[in-house]
Amino acid sequence: MNAIADSLDRSLPALVDLYKDLHAHPELAFQEHRTASVVAQRLRTLGWNVTTGVGRTGVVAVLRNGPGPTIMLRADMDALPVRENTGLDYASTRTADGPDGSTIPVMHACGHDIHVTCLIGACALLSERATAWQGTVVAVFQPAEESGLGAQAMVDDGLFERFPRPTVLLGQHVGPGPAGMVAKVPGTVMAAADSITVRLYGRGGHGSKPETTVDPVVMAASLVGRLQSIVSRMVPSQESVVITVGSIKAGITAATIPDEAELGINVRTFNPGVRRRVIDAIARLAKAEALAADAPRQPDLITGYHLPATVNDPDQTEYVACVHEGVFGPEAVIPMGPNTASEDFGVLAQAAQVPSVFWFFGGNDPEEFQQALCADRLAEDIPPNHSSLFAPAPRPTISTGVQALLGAALAYLEGPHADAAPAAAGTARA
Ligand code: ZN
Ligand code: ZN
Repeated sequence: MNAIADSLDRSLPALVDLYKDLHAHPELAFQEHRTASVVAQRLRTLGWNVTTGVGRTGVVAVLRNGPGPTIMLRADMDALPVRENTGLDYASTRTADGPDGSTIPVMHACGHDIHVTCLIGACALLSERATAWQGTVVAVFQPAEESGLGAQAMVDDGLFERFPRPTVLLGQHVGPGPAGMVAKVPGTVMAAADSITVRLYGRGGHGSKPETTVDPVVMAASLVGRLQSIVSRMVPSQESVVITVGSIKAGITAATIPDEAELGINVRTFNPGVRRRVIDAIARLAKAEALAADAPRQPDLITGYHLPATVNDPDQTEYVACVHEGVFGPEAVIPMGPNTASEDFGVLAQAAQVPSVFWFFGGNDPEEFQQALCADRLAEDIPPNHSSLFAPAPRPTISTGVQALLGAALAYLEGPHADAAPAAAGTARA
C-alpha cells in the first residue's frame, strides 16, 4: 500500500478542501443538487461514466476496467436540520425552507460530507491505479439517508437494473472514535428503525373544568411513561430495544384543554419477532389509555418509515477486516457490537441480494479522544453524530476513510490479493 499512501498524501490537501466546501454547503434530503453536481463533475473529470438524478438526486458513477467482479461502494450525501455550533471557520450558515414554509438551519451533523469526500478520493485512486486491478466499480452517491427514503428511491429508479449488478456491497460511516481506527462488526451492525405516530382523541374544553372534558394531554403524558414498560416488562432482558418519544404535540394555550394530542415515537429493534411484539404493545397501550380516559374515539396509529436492520455478511466482514488490519495495523481494527443507530444501507443490500459489509471509522483527534476516555467524559466531551458540535477532524479521518474503502475494494477486484476473497464474491467472479 506504500504507493497508494504516497498518492493519497499528494491528493489529501485537495480532498480536505473538498470536504470543507461540502461541509459549508450542506443540503437536506432530496435537495442535494449542489453536492450531486460537485460529485458528478469530479467523477466525469476522472473518466467515470456518470448518471445523475438516480432516485431524484442520487449519482451513480461506473468505471469498467476489464473482466472481473463488480464492486459497489456507497456514500450518502444529505445533511440535517441542525444549527451548527462548532465555531469552525468552515461551519455551515446555510438554511433551507421547512415543510411549513419556515426557515430551518442545515448542517452536515452526521458526517455524510466526509463519506462523499472519501468515496471521491477512493475513486480517484482507483482511476490512477487502474493498471493494478480489473473489474468494474460502481460508486453510489445516495441521497436522503436521514429521511430513510434515499436508498429505496435509488432501488425504485432501477439502481440494480440500469447499472452493473455488484457481487459485494461496501459502505462506511464516520462516528465518535479515534481517527485512524476502524470498527468491524460481523453480523447485525445496526438496528431496524420504525417511526410511529399515535394520535389520541379527547374532548376539549375549559382548563378550569377538566371534569367536563377528556384531557388528551394527560392521556399522552401517561402513555409516554407507560411505553417504557414495554422495554422493561414485555421484552426479554437479553434483547435490545429502544423506544423514544421524540415529539409531543397538543394544545395552544394553558387555559384550554385541546381535543387531540399526538406522540411521535421511534422504535429500534434487532429481532423481527421482538419488533412485531413492541409495535403491537404500543397499539395496545394507546388503546388502553383511551379506554381508561373514556375517550370518545379510539386512537389512530400512523406508521411512518421502516428501515430494516443492517446485517453484515460474517465471512466478508472478516475478510475486509483482515484487509483493514493489513492497511492500518491489527491494533487499529476493533471488534464492535451492534449499534442502536439505523441506516438505509440495508435496503440496498436486501434489494441487491448480495453480501454487504458496513464499517465505522473514528473521526476524533486520537489524543482528545483518549483524554476524554481516561477522564470518563466521552458523553460530555466527544459530540456524537447529529450534535450541533459534531466536527470530525479532517486529518487523518479523510485518509482513513479513503484507504478503508480503497483497500476493501481492491481486495475484491482482480489483482494480486483477490483470490483470497471468500466464496460469495469469488463465485460471481467466474
Ligand atoms: Zn445521521
Ligand atoms: Zn449518517
